[in-house]
This record gives sequence, C-alpha cells and structure tokens, in this order.
Amino acid sequence: MAIDPTTPSAKQASLDSLKGHVPFVGLTGGIGSGKTAVSDLLAQLGAGIIDTDLIAHQITAPNGAAIPLIQERFGPEFIDSSGALDRTKMRSLVFADPEARKALETITHPLIREETIRQAMELINAKVPYLVFVVPLLIESGNWLSLLDDLVVVDCPEEVQIERVMHRSKLPRNEVERILKAQANRQERIAHANVVIENQGSLADLQARVLELHQKILQNQKDRTSSS
Ligand code: ATP
Repeated sequence: MAIDPTTPSAKQASLDSLKGHVPFVGLTGGIGSGKTAVSDLLAQLGAGIIDTDLIAHQITAPNGAAIPLIQERFGPEFIDSSGALDRTKMRSLVFADPEARKALETITHPLIREETIRQAMELINAKVPYLVFVVPLLIESGNWLSLLDDLVVVDCPEEVQIERVMHRSKLPRNEVERILKAQANRQERIAHANVVIENQGSLADLQARVLELHQKILQNQKDRTSSS
C-alpha cells in the first residue's frame, strides 16, 4: 500500500501513523553483537533497512543537521577540524555529566526521528516487503516496543562481543566493558524478543539464520493477516 501523497511531511508525521503499510521489525542487540551484519544480509534479501545509528552518525558528520546546534550549545571545541562532532570529547563529557547527555539528546533525537520517518516513507513507497529498524538501545529507550510487529535480538556471549569490538574499533577492553555495562543485559533484551538470532558462529552460519529470519518475518505477517 503506497503512502497517500497528502500524508504530512516527515517533520509532521509519526511512525505510528505509518503503521499498517508493511510489517515493522525492530532489530537490536548489544554492542558488537552483529546487528549490522544481520541487517546487511536482510537488505540483500530485499528488506528495507533504517539504521538509526547510521543516521546519528550522518547528522553529526561534517555539514550534518546537528552540527550547528551542537556548536551553539556546547561550543566550537566539540567540533573537530573536519567539521564533524568530536566523538571522543563528547563521549567523555556525556559519560561524566547526565545533564550534558540530556542536552545532546534533545538536539539529536528529534533529528534522528525525522530522518527515520522520511526513510520509512521512502521505503514504503518503494514497496519493500517489511521495514527493519536497527536501534542499538531499543529496549532501553522504551518508545519502540508498542510500534513493532516483530522484535529481533542478535545475541552472542559477552566475551565474543568484547573481542569483536576491540578488533573492529581498536578500543581497549576496559572501554568496551564500560559500554557493555551501560546497556541492557542479554537476558533483559531476550525477554522482549520474539526472535533471537544467535551469532557466535561463522558468518556462513549467520547467513543461514538470517534467511530463516526473513522467511519467519514474512510468515508472521501472513499469520497476522489471516487471523485479523
Ligand atoms: P555496534 O553495536 O557496535 O554497531 P553491531 O551489533 O552492528 O555493532 P557488527 O558491526 O555487525 O555489530 O559486528 C561487529 C564486528 O564483528 C564487525 O567487525 C563484524 O564484521 C564482526 N562480525 C559480526 N558477526 C560475525 C560473525 N558471525 N563472525 C565473525 N565476525 C563477525
């Protein structure tokens, strides 16, 4: 079902108002669990992917929509020489200062929401079979749960997460452990999921699981349609 052209723009619309066009699937998991690996594979199968972490990076990249607002609120020392947010500096500030975290989120969250809705409208009109919202802190944020038809959690042992992130992001172990501690734990996340993707094996194992996931999402939609 295409979106009526009289639908309000992304600025005025809400995700809730877009529900019912295609299934909404949430995809979450702890740092380094494999959310991007799973969403890349789902994209190859035709899913519409909206990665909120990527959007958060884009709005804080050079010329990003959040940059002038961050500069005004926090000062030019938080913008690096390329014109992007200085992530290391901002990470230390918001870790130590909850008020600063709130101020940053007041800037970024509405911009992320607006871009998420814009992409959702575009993908629905492109007739994707379903939308996958990749949201690292989906469980923690609490706003998503009522919107979703399916909630997929990517899970693997914490030690595997730590090793993958140390390797990928060249972060020291204590930094990765600190991020892990600030997130929901595995059990909390799994308790909300209706599908759990184990990702402690090879990428070939993951590929087979993601194909099953794709089929399950489509089947769940058929079941919902036939029971309504
Ligand atoms: P973040 O929360 O930091 O955004 P993420 O959950 O999106 O991470 P990925 O970026 O998909 O996780 O994976 C983390 C790292 O582990 C990447 O370098 C990825 O290539 C690698 N990886 C993911 N799954 C596997 C796997 N099954 N086997 C080997 N490497 C993997």
